[in-house]
Parts: sequence; C-alpha cells; structure tokens
Amino acid sequence: MPELPEVETVRRILEQEIIGRQIIGVTFYDFPGVIGEMDPHTFRAMVTGQTLGCPERRGKYLSIPMSEDLALVIHLRMTGRVLVVPRDAVPVRFEHLAIHLDSGHDLRFADQRKFGRVLCLDADTARFALARLGPEPLERGFSVRQLTRIASRRKSPIKNVLLDQRVVAGLGNIYVDEALFRARINPFTPAGTLTEEDQRRLVRAIRHVLRAALLNQGTTFSSFENPYGEQGRNADFLQIYSKGKAGQRCARCNSELVWTKLGGRGTSFCPRCQPSPTA
Ligand SMILES: [Zn+2]
Repeated sequence: MPELPEVETVRRILEQEIIGRQIIGVTFYDFPGVIGEMDPHTFRAMVTGQTLGCPERRGKYLSIPMSEDLALVIHLRMTGRVLVVPRDAVPVRFEHLAIHLDSGHDLRFADQRKFGRVLCLDADTARFALARLGPEPLERGFSVRQLTRIASRRKSPIKNVLLDQRVVAGLGNIYVDEALFRARINPFTPAGTLTEEDQRRLVRAIRHVLRAALLNQGTTFSSFENPYGEQGRNADFLQIYSKGKAGQRCARCNSELVWTKLGGRGTSFCPRCQPSPTA
C-alpha cells in the first residue's frame, strides 16, 4: 500500500498537471462516502469554481490548497489511486469521484477497498490535522537525536515505533522492513535498547530506502499506480519485504529469510544479519 515514496510520486505528477487549474464540476459514482461525512451537493458547491494551488505532501497525505482558504486532503490508505486523465476517458475500475478541471482533464479517485478519502476542509483544519504527524524523514527535522529521544522511552519493538506516524511520518510496512534490514536491526528489538550507533545506521537506512524508492517512482506490489496509470519500478529492488514468505534467501549472507507476524503485520527479516535481541 502507498507509503511516502508512492504518495510523493503522485504529488510530483499532480504538480505538473493541476496547478492554477479551475474546478468546473464534480461527478460522483456509487460511493459518495469517498468524501467523508460531507454531503455530495455541499462538496460540489464548495469546490466548483476553486483554483488549485501547489499540491503538498505530509507523510502519506496529499493536501491541495484551493482558493478561498480551502484544501483538498487526499489519503490513499490501502488501494486508493489518483488519476489525471482526459475528460472523455472512460471511468476506471472502482472509480468513485471525478473532479473536472478547466484544462479538459479530470482529477479522479478510484479505490477498490474504499478506505481512501478525498476531503474538502478549510485550510486551517487541514493544517491542524497534518501538524499531528511526526517529522518528515527526508527533511532536516528528522535526526538521530530526535529518533533517540522518542525511541529511548519506548519498550515496544522498533518496527512498531517506526510505523507510528507521530514518530516519523510516511513509513509503512514495506520501507520499515527494508530500512531495518539495511541497518541490520531485528524488527522485534525493543526501541529503548538500540544503541546510538544503531540509531545512526537506522536513520541513514530509512533515508536511503526512501530515496531509492522515489527514484524508482514507488513500489507496485499489488495496486499502486501513478496518476498516469503507470506502475512503480521499485518492487524489483526490494531486499527483504515479504521475501521470507516465499522462503527466499538473504542477498547478503544467503541464510533463509524468516517471515512472521509482528503487531499483526507480516514481517520479514534475516535471522543472521538481523539477530534476535534475546539471542
Ligand atoms: Zn542475511
């Protein structure tokens, strides 16, 4: 499911396609719940006539500022997809919403699982909601010191701490498993027991796996596609994510990888490169 690199890939394309465009209409399909609690007539009345500003990303959220102090806040969740297509393109599968732009294109939202949302919020509400997220891992605010401060107080496994969006924004199951493998840290390690050297390697590893995935325009494992309907290329470069499930061997040491559950989530690691904290 989409994490920071996938959402940023979407943002970069939207930046090319929608800035300065005016919304001239909205079409709903079978699931108006895609806009949350708001009534579809209200949504249509609020967004029609609005001019779109530069899309921003915070964690796994997209926020598109509109004129009149409003913002469209988009969360892809598990299977949400944002598309930019010509107005006359036939609706894609699971399409719930088409926002018609004066460029002759539509900004569309499709979602098989229906957990994703496209919300119309006033700009202050949007800012306030997104301010609760932790620092951006690719920006300066995310540092070894900052991670240490949070992790040292936690007894929970480091994997769960990294998945907490208030600790660091934008990581999910794929890039947490990849970063822990790269940093040679077992996902079950209690966060508070990591050494300063562990933390340093971890911060470097997180940045590395995210940057590499961004260069490859995201990971398509099941459903992710960019707004042009193209898949990301990063799946070919994953070292560990879900590979233990298929009984594959570690690319570094050739040990058989382990697949298990941690906090209800599938988790892969190498028992030799990432030794158990109790071993
Ligand atoms: Zn290994």
